[in-house]
Amino acid sequence: MLAQVFGIFGTPIAHALSPVMHNAAFAALGLPHHYHAFEVAPDRLEEAIQAMDALGFGGVNITLPHKEKVLPFLDRIDTTARRVGAVNTIAIENGRWVGYNTDGAGWMRALLEAGVDPMGMRALLLGSGGAAASVAYTLLEHQAGPLSIFCRRTETGHPLANRLRATFPQHEIEVFPLSEFQKIVSDFPKALLIQATPLGLCPDDPLPIPIESLQPGWVVSDLVYRPYETPLLVQAKKRGVQTIPGIGMLLYQGVLAFERWTGEIAPISVMKAALSHALNCAR
Ligand code: NAP
Repeated sequence: MLAQVFGIFGTPIAHALSPVMHNAAFAALGLPHHYHAFEVAPDRLEEAIQAMDALGFGGVNITLPHKEKVLPFLDRIDTTARRVGAVNTIAIENGRWVGYNTDGAGWMRALLEAGVDPMGMRALLLGSGGAAASVAYTLLEHQAGPLSIFCRRTETGHPLANRLRATFPQHEIEVFPLSEFQKIVSDFPKALLIQATPLGLCPDDPLPIPIESLQPGWVVSDLVYRPYETPLLVQAKKRGVQTIPGIGMLLYQGVLAFERWTGEIAPISVMKAALSHALNCAR
Protein backbone atom coordinates (compact mmCIF):
# COMPACT_ATOMS: atom_id res chain seq x y z
CA MET A 1 0.00 0.00 0.00
CA LEU A 2 1.20 3.50 -0.85
CA ALA A 3 1.98 5.58 2.24
CA GLN A 4 -0.13 8.74 2.35
CA VAL A 5 0.29 11.98 4.24
CA PHE A 6 -2.46 13.21 6.55
CA GLY A 7 -2.41 16.24 8.77
CA ILE A 8 -3.99 19.24 10.39
CA PHE A 9 -3.74 22.79 9.01
CA GLY A 10 -4.05 25.65 11.50
CA THR A 11 -2.21 28.31 13.45
CA PRO A 12 -1.12 28.09 16.21
CA ILE A 13 -0.79 24.32 15.86
CA ALA A 14 2.11 23.22 18.10
CA HIS A 15 -0.18 21.78 20.79
CA ALA A 16 -2.57 19.90 18.49
CA LEU A 17 -3.44 16.43 19.82
CA SER A 18 -4.73 14.97 16.54
CA PRO A 19 -1.26 13.73 15.41
CA VAL A 20 -0.84 11.37 18.39
CA MET A 21 -4.36 10.05 17.99
CA HIS A 22 -4.17 9.37 14.23
CA ASN A 23 -0.58 8.07 14.22
CA ALA A 24 -1.51 5.60 16.99
CA ALA A 25 -4.48 4.48 14.89
CA PHE A 26 -2.38 4.03 11.70
CA ALA A 27 0.20 2.00 13.66
CA ALA A 28 -2.47 -0.17 15.31
CA LEU A 29 -3.96 -1.10 11.93
CA GLY A 30 -0.54 -1.56 10.27
CA LEU A 31 -1.18 1.29 7.82
CA PRO A 32 1.94 3.01 6.41
CA HIS A 33 0.45 6.53 6.61
CA HIS A 34 1.66 9.44 8.72
CA TYR A 35 -0.16 12.44 10.23
CA HIS A 36 1.60 15.79 10.83
CA ALA A 37 0.63 19.16 12.29
CA PHE A 38 1.18 21.93 9.69
CA GLU A 39 1.48 25.57 10.71
CA VAL A 40 -0.46 27.29 7.91
CA ALA A 41 -0.75 31.09 7.95
CA PRO A 42 -4.13 32.55 6.89
CA ASP A 43 -2.69 34.03 3.66
CA ARG A 44 -1.13 30.64 2.66
CA LEU A 45 -4.24 28.45 3.12
CA GLU A 46 -5.18 28.30 -0.56
CA GLU A 47 -1.60 27.36 -1.51
CA ALA A 48 -1.53 24.67 1.18
CA ILE A 49 -4.77 23.13 -0.13
CA GLN A 50 -3.55 23.25 -3.73
CA ALA A 51 -0.28 21.51 -2.77
CA MET A 52 -2.03 18.48 -1.26
CA ASP A 53 -2.43 16.61 -4.55
CA ALA A 54 1.21 16.88 -5.56
CA LEU A 55 2.45 15.96 -2.09
CA GLY A 56 0.45 12.72 -1.83
CA PHE A 57 -2.03 13.76 0.83
CA GLY A 58 -4.89 11.39 1.66
CA GLY A 59 -6.80 14.00 3.68
CA VAL A 60 -6.49 16.72 6.30
CA ASN A 61 -8.19 18.22 9.29
CA ILE A 62 -8.72 21.95 9.38
CA THR A 63 -8.67 23.95 12.59
CA LEU A 64 -8.69 27.58 13.77
CA PRO A 65 -8.58 30.01 12.08
CA HIS A 66 -9.28 28.26 8.74
CA LYS A 67 -12.49 26.27 9.27
CA GLU A 68 -14.74 28.83 7.54
CA LYS A 69 -12.19 30.31 5.12
CA VAL A 70 -11.36 26.96 3.51
CA LEU A 71 -14.77 26.44 1.90
CA PRO A 72 -14.07 28.31 -1.40
CA PHE A 73 -10.92 26.25 -2.02
CA LEU A 74 -12.69 22.87 -2.10
CA ASP A 75 -14.36 21.00 -4.98
CA ARG A 76 -17.42 20.02 -2.96
CA ILE A 77 -18.85 20.66 0.52
CA ASP A 78 -21.19 18.15 2.15
CA THR A 79 -24.57 19.27 3.47
CA THR A 80 -23.68 19.37 7.17
CA ALA A 81 -20.50 21.38 6.61
CA ARG A 82 -22.37 23.77 4.31
CA ARG A 83 -25.12 24.32 6.89
CA VAL A 84 -22.63 24.85 9.71
CA GLY A 85 -20.50 27.03 7.43
CA ALA A 86 -17.29 25.32 8.54
CA VAL A 87 -15.12 22.38 7.46
CA ASN A 88 -12.93 20.37 9.86
CA THR A 89 -12.15 17.38 7.61
CA ILE A 90 -11.15 17.21 3.94
CA ALA A 91 -11.16 13.88 2.12
CA ILE A 92 -10.34 12.96 -1.45
CA GLU A 93 -13.16 11.35 -3.43
CA ASN A 94 -12.82 10.46 -7.11
CA GLY A 95 -9.94 12.89 -7.39
CA ARG A 96 -11.90 15.77 -5.83
CA TRP A 97 -11.35 17.43 -2.44
CA VAL A 98 -14.54 17.24 -0.39
CA GLY A 99 -15.17 19.20 2.84
CA TYR A 100 -16.93 17.64 5.83
CA ASN A 101 -17.64 18.72 9.38
CA THR A 102 -17.36 15.87 11.90
CA ASP A 103 -17.41 18.10 15.02
CA GLY A 104 -21.17 17.94 15.64
CA ALA A 105 -21.50 14.21 14.94
CA GLY A 106 -18.39 13.56 17.08
CA TRP A 107 -19.87 15.56 19.94
CA MET A 108 -23.19 13.71 19.63
CA ARG A 109 -21.44 10.33 19.73
CA ALA A 110 -19.66 11.31 22.97
CA LEU A 111 -22.97 12.52 24.43
CA LEU A 112 -24.80 9.29 23.56
CA GLU A 113 -21.87 7.23 24.86
CA ALA A 114 -22.27 9.06 28.19
CA GLY A 115 -25.89 7.81 28.23
CA VAL A 116 -27.50 11.17 27.41
CA ASP A 117 -30.14 11.26 24.65
CA PRO A 118 -30.90 14.92 23.87
CA MET A 119 -34.30 14.19 22.29
CA GLY A 120 -36.83 16.58 23.87
CA MET A 121 -34.23 17.95 26.31
CA ARG A 122 -33.96 21.71 26.77
CA ALA A 123 -30.55 22.82 25.46
CA LEU A 124 -28.56 25.81 26.77
CA LEU A 125 -25.65 26.69 24.50
CA LEU A 126 -22.85 29.04 25.61
CA GLY A 127 -21.17 30.69 22.61
CA SER A 128 -22.07 31.07 18.95
CA GLY A 129 -18.79 30.30 17.14
CA GLY A 130 -17.95 27.39 14.83
CA ALA A 131 -18.05 24.67 17.49
CA ALA A 132 -21.32 26.00 18.92
CA ALA A 133 -22.85 25.98 15.41
CA SER A 134 -21.88 22.33 14.78
CA VAL A 135 -23.37 21.29 18.12
CA ALA A 136 -26.54 23.33 17.53
CA TYR A 137 -27.27 21.68 14.15
CA THR A 138 -26.64 18.21 15.57
CA LEU A 139 -28.92 18.91 18.53
CA LEU A 140 -31.79 20.02 16.30
CA GLU A 141 -31.25 17.05 13.95
CA HIS A 142 -31.63 14.83 17.03
CA GLN A 143 -34.86 16.60 18.00
CA ALA A 144 -33.61 18.27 21.16
CA GLY A 145 -36.08 20.51 23.01
CA PRO A 146 -36.04 24.35 22.98
CA LEU A 147 -32.61 25.81 22.27
CA SER A 148 -31.33 28.91 24.09
CA ILE A 149 -28.10 30.46 22.81
CA PHE A 150 -26.19 32.63 25.30
CA CYS A 151 -23.49 34.99 23.96
CA ARG A 152 -21.45 37.82 25.34
CA ARG A 153 -22.56 39.82 22.26
CA THR A 154 -26.05 38.87 21.07
CA GLU A 155 -25.28 40.26 17.60
CA THR A 156 -23.15 37.13 17.03
CA GLY A 157 -25.89 34.81 18.30
CA HIS A 158 -28.74 36.10 16.11
CA PRO A 159 -27.16 35.16 12.75
CA LEU A 160 -26.64 31.58 14.02
CA ALA A 161 -30.22 31.44 15.32
CA ASN A 162 -31.53 32.71 11.97
CA ARG A 163 -29.53 30.12 10.02
CA LEU A 164 -30.84 27.36 12.32
CA ARG A 165 -34.43 28.61 11.88
CA ALA A 166 -34.03 28.42 8.10
CA THR A 167 -33.38 24.66 8.39
CA PHE A 168 -35.60 23.96 11.41
CA PRO A 169 -38.46 26.49 11.10
CA GLN A 170 -40.61 24.78 13.77
CA HIS A 171 -37.94 24.75 16.42
CA GLU A 172 -38.02 27.10 19.44
CA ILE A 173 -34.70 28.99 19.30
CA GLU A 174 -33.87 32.05 21.40
CA VAL A 175 -30.78 34.22 21.90
CA PHE A 176 -29.87 35.86 25.22
CA PRO A 177 -26.93 37.84 26.58
CA LEU A 178 -24.64 35.56 28.61
CA SER A 179 -24.93 38.08 31.47
CA GLU A 180 -28.62 37.11 31.86
CA PHE A 181 -27.96 33.37 32.11
CA GLN A 182 -28.86 32.93 35.78
CA LYS A 183 -32.10 34.90 35.48
CA ILE A 184 -33.27 33.04 32.35
CA VAL A 185 -32.54 29.49 33.54
CA SER A 186 -33.71 29.76 37.15
CA ASP A 187 -36.83 27.62 36.62
CA PHE A 188 -35.32 24.91 34.38
CA PRO A 189 -34.96 21.82 36.58
CA LYS A 190 -33.71 19.72 33.64
CA ALA A 191 -31.40 20.93 30.86
CA LEU A 192 -28.37 20.07 28.78
CA LEU A 193 -25.76 22.85 29.12
CA ILE A 194 -23.10 22.99 26.40
CA GLN A 195 -20.08 25.18 27.07
CA ALA A 196 -18.76 26.15 23.60
CA THR A 197 -16.58 29.18 24.41
CA PRO A 198 -12.80 28.98 25.05
CA LEU A 199 -13.37 29.85 28.76
CA GLY A 200 -11.60 27.25 30.91
CA LEU A 201 -8.56 26.90 28.64
CA CYS A 202 -6.50 29.37 30.73
CA PRO A 203 -6.10 28.88 34.46
CA ASP A 204 -7.13 32.50 35.12
CA ASP A 205 -10.37 32.31 33.12
CA PRO A 206 -13.55 33.13 35.03
CA LEU A 207 -16.33 30.52 35.04
CA PRO A 208 -18.61 31.17 32.04
CA ILE A 209 -21.74 31.21 34.25
CA PRO A 210 -22.51 31.75 37.95
CA ILE A 211 -22.08 28.28 39.45
CA GLU A 212 -25.23 28.69 41.60
CA SER A 213 -27.32 28.56 38.43
CA LEU A 214 -26.50 24.87 37.88
CA GLN A 215 -29.29 22.52 38.95
CA PRO A 216 -28.72 18.88 40.03
CA GLY A 217 -30.90 17.56 37.18
CA TRP A 218 -28.73 19.14 34.48
CA VAL A 219 -26.06 17.61 32.28
CA VAL A 220 -23.00 19.76 31.50
CA SER A 221 -20.89 19.16 28.39
CA ASP A 222 -17.75 21.28 28.10
CA LEU A 223 -16.14 21.39 24.65
CA VAL A 224 -12.81 22.58 26.07
CA TYR A 225 -10.61 19.48 26.47
CA ARG A 226 -7.46 20.97 27.94
CA PRO A 227 -7.51 20.71 30.97
CA TYR A 228 -9.25 17.31 30.85
CA GLU A 229 -11.69 18.56 33.48
CA THR A 230 -12.32 22.31 33.28
CA PRO A 231 -13.11 24.36 36.42
CA LEU A 232 -16.76 24.42 35.24
CA LEU A 233 -16.88 20.61 35.18
CA VAL A 234 -15.11 20.34 38.55
CA GLN A 235 -17.65 22.70 40.14
CA ALA A 236 -20.58 21.04 38.38
CA LYS A 237 -19.53 17.59 39.63
CA LYS A 238 -19.38 18.93 43.20
CA ARG A 239 -23.03 19.93 42.81
CA GLY A 240 -24.01 16.42 41.70
CA VAL A 241 -24.40 17.35 38.03
CA GLN A 242 -23.48 14.83 35.30
CA THR A 243 -20.44 16.12 33.39
CA ILE A 244 -19.07 15.28 29.94
CA PRO A 245 -15.48 16.40 29.19
CA GLY A 246 -14.46 17.71 25.75
CA ILE A 247 -12.04 14.85 25.06
CA GLY A 248 -14.95 12.67 23.85
CA MET A 249 -15.79 15.16 21.07
CA LEU A 250 -12.11 15.40 20.10
CA LEU A 251 -11.88 11.61 19.96
CA TYR A 252 -15.01 10.99 17.93
CA GLN A 253 -14.56 13.84 15.43
CA GLY A 254 -11.18 12.16 14.78
CA VAL A 255 -12.70 8.67 14.59
CA LEU A 256 -15.19 9.86 11.96
CA ALA A 257 -12.43 11.56 9.92
CA PHE A 258 -10.19 8.47 10.16
CA GLU A 259 -12.95 6.16 8.94
CA ARG A 260 -13.78 8.47 6.04
CA TRP A 261 -10.12 8.65 4.95
CA THR A 262 -9.18 5.00 5.34
CA GLY A 263 -12.46 3.11 4.93
CA GLU A 264 -11.36 1.10 8.01
CA ILE A 265 -13.10 0.79 11.38
CA ALA A 266 -11.14 3.11 13.67
CA PRO A 267 -9.34 1.52 16.65
CA ILE A 268 -11.20 3.69 19.16
CA SER A 269 -9.58 2.37 22.35
CA VAL A 270 -6.10 2.98 20.88
CA MET A 271 -7.02 6.53 19.83
CA LYS A 272 -8.57 7.24 23.24
CA ALA A 273 -5.50 5.93 25.09
CA ALA A 274 -3.18 8.05 22.92
CA LEU A 275 -5.23 11.19 23.63
CA SER A 276 -5.46 10.49 27.37
CA HIS A 277 -1.71 9.88 27.57
CA ALA A 278 -0.95 13.12 25.68
CA LEU A 279 -3.31 15.12 27.90
CA ASN A 280 -1.80 13.63 31.09
CA CYS A 281 1.70 14.47 29.87
CA ALA A 282 0.59 18.05 29.19
CA ARG A 283 -0.68 18.57 32.79
P1 NAP B 1 -14.78 30.42 17.87
O1 NAP B 1 -15.38 30.17 16.53
O2 NAP B 1 -13.66 31.40 18.02
O3 NAP B 1 -15.98 30.84 18.85
C1 NAP B 1 -15.76 31.14 20.20
C2 NAP B 1 -17.08 31.57 20.86
O4 NAP B 1 -16.81 31.82 22.23
C3 NAP B 1 -17.68 32.85 20.28
O5 NAP B 1 -19.07 32.79 20.39
C4 NAP B 1 -17.10 33.92 21.23
O6 NAP B 1 -17.90 35.06 21.34
C5 NAP B 1 -17.16 33.18 22.54
N1 NAP B 1 -16.20 33.71 23.49
C6 NAP B 1 -14.87 33.86 23.30
N2 NAP B 1 -14.31 34.36 24.41
C7 NAP B 1 -15.31 34.54 25.31
C8 NAP B 1 -15.36 35.07 26.62
N3 NAP B 1 -14.27 35.49 27.26
N4 NAP B 1 -16.57 35.12 27.25
C9 NAP B 1 -17.68 34.70 26.60
N5 NAP B 1 -17.70 34.21 25.35
C10 NAP B 1 -16.51 34.13 24.72
O7 NAP B 1 -14.22 29.07 18.49
P2 NAP B 1 -14.82 27.60 18.30
O8 NAP B 1 -14.19 26.93 17.15
O9 NAP B 1 -16.30 27.71 18.34
O10 NAP B 1 -14.26 26.86 19.60
C11 NAP B 1 -14.68 27.22 20.90
C12 NAP B 1 -13.97 26.30 21.90
O11 NAP B 1 -14.48 24.98 21.73
C13 NAP B 1 -12.45 26.19 21.62
O12 NAP B 1 -11.74 27.05 22.46
C14 NAP B 1 -12.11 24.76 21.91
O13 NAP B 1 -11.56 24.67 23.21
C15 NAP B 1 -13.46 24.04 21.92
N6 NAP B 1 -13.53 23.03 20.84
C16 NAP B 1 -13.40 21.74 21.21
C17 NAP B 1 -13.49 20.75 20.27
C18 NAP B 1 -13.36 19.32 20.71
O14 NAP B 1 -13.10 18.46 19.86
N7 NAP B 1 -13.56 19.03 22.00
C19 NAP B 1 -13.71 21.07 18.91
C20 NAP B 1 -13.84 22.41 18.54
C21 NAP B 1 -13.74 23.39 19.53
P3 NAP B 1 -17.69 36.36 20.40
O15 NAP B 1 -18.44 36.05 19.14
O16 NAP B 1 -18.27 37.45 21.20
O17 NAP B 1 -16.20 36.47 20.17
